[in-house]
Amino acid sequence: MTVYSKELKEEYRSDVLVLGGGPSGLCAAVAAARGGASVILVEKYGFCGGMATAGLVAPFMTCFDSGGGTMLIRGLFSEIVDRLCLRGDAIHPSLCDAPSAFTSYITVGHKRVTPFRAEGLKKVADEMLAEAGVRILYHTSFADVLSSDGHIEKVVLLRKNGLCCATAKVIVDCTGDGDCAASAGAAFEFGNEAEKKVQPATTFFRIGNVDSSKIEEDYRKNIDNFYRKDGVNYRSLHWWVEKAREAGDWDLDRVSIGLFRGVDEDEWSINTSRIMGIDGTDSESLTRGEIEGRRQVEEIFAFFRKYVPGCENAKLLQTGTTLGIRETRHIRGAKMLKTTDLLSCTYPSDSIAVCANSVDVHGKYGPRSNEYIALPEGGFYGIPFGTLVPEGFDNLLVAGRCLSAESDAAGAVRVMPPCMATGEAAGCAAAIASAYGISVYRVDTDALRGELRNRGVYLP
Ligand SMILES: Cc1cc2nc3c(=O)[nH]c(=O)nc-3n(C[C@H](O)[C@H](O)[C@H](O)COP(=O)(O)OP(=O)(O)OC[C@H]3O[C@@H](n4cnc5c(N)ncnc54)[C@H](O)[C@@H]3O)c2cc1C
Repeated sequence: MTVYSKELKEEYRSDVLVLGGGPSGLCAAVAAARGGASVILVEKYGFCGGMATAGLVAPFMTCFDSGGGTMLIRGLFSEIVDRLCLRGDAIHPSLCDAPSAFTSYITVGHKRVTPFRAEGLKKVADEMLAEAGVRILYHTSFADVLSSDGHIEKVVLLRKNGLCCATAKVIVDCTGDGDCAASAGAAFEFGNEAEKKVQPATTFFRIGNVDSSKIEEDYRKNIDNFYRKDGVNYRSLHWWVEKAREAGDWDLDRVSIGLFRGVDEDEWSINTSRIMGIDGTDSESLTRGEIEGRRQVEEIFAFFRKYVPGCENAKLLQTGTTLGIRETRHIRGAKMLKTTDLLSCTYPSDSIAVCANSVDVHGKYGPRSNEYIALPEGGFYGIPFGTLVPEGFDNLLVAGRCLSAESDAAGAVRVMPPCMATGEAAGCAAAIASAYGISVYRVDTDALRGELRNRGVYLP
């Protein structure tokens, strides 16, 4: 054991400190700054977007009710989509119905997704943060926290130029993994602890130079060929995966392909590799996942070129800068989102966001399986404010993937539109708490809901 001690300069002071600039952190920072708070955003990469940019995850999953009739997630999410559309970097969800190339030809739970370009999102994020007056610290990582009696006193940051300290009235943890909350001692569940499982990881990649009309034609020939058996979804291109497996060209734990057409007609995002048992909070485990992910991508890409009509001359454009992590810590909050509430379309009176994404748990019954439970037609559920308030802390909020939820419920709200919505609510609440000098759990939820409505958030 080595004891390492060092005096750290306090370099940064703000009303609100947002850790992580993914979908939730971007919205938390903009929302807090628009609420009048001085805001610092800390992000380990040189751009915002998290899984949407570094992970190449696309499209934004549905932001509508389960029938595809009403756009539920509005506010900052809607503004980001509009800005992307204006630049030609997204296709509006109202134009993307299911089944279609944009939804991997899946119908259930996939109405109204948003294809977008990651490069456009990086730019939109920079602009929105600058306009709101957020001070951005790229290439800076959360490293540690000093807290006492449920109060975060100081946050230790790792910059290229060394360690330093930051203080803030309110800290919003948007690291996806709840890094700050966990370091401060907040209680959490890691994945699905009862079943000792965590959702598998995936290396996303993009291919280009595809003759998409041939993929469409192939899909049309097999339109009645999607089915589900023993918890396994036999979906897009499973007819080619079977052939490849018979020929010894496929050894992966997937029976079909997740392929989502992008904004450009010849480009597709591929969500298919599957790496079991990766701990997204452990660098050695992540290293194993990154290497295995790239190995799988090579096999999947070769499969596309050899078997899938229209992909004979496809090019591998890019793999994600980071492995895609679906699940790590669920920080325990004042309230917990329960799977039964969500599936019964419960809308609590302190909801700060509404959404309708299905429960989507990869690998639930083994490596090849998938649990996918959609809501009744037209249904939606609310996310209560308490899911953003870690138990026992007066100046800490969480948002995005690490909010307080049962593992299966998190499997529904982990997608990007709800993460942006919870980020916006957390940022708004942080600005209120810092303006009135109150603890986060004393933020009046009616006032918060009123403020969110004023900003265009849909809370029926
Ligand atoms: C394989 C896969 C497929 C998916 N498919 C879809 C899909 O089709 N559609 C959809 O809408 N959603 C999808 N999702 C879910 C979605 O992408 C994520 O759950 C969502 O991006 C989470 O948002 P977040 O802001 O909570 O975290 P993240 O997107 O993970 O962002 C966290 C940010 O914090 C930064 N960060 C982390 N730790 C630190 C630290 N210590 N210091 C500084 N910065 C830090 C990261 O660099 C990152 O920018 C998928 C996810 C995966 C992994």
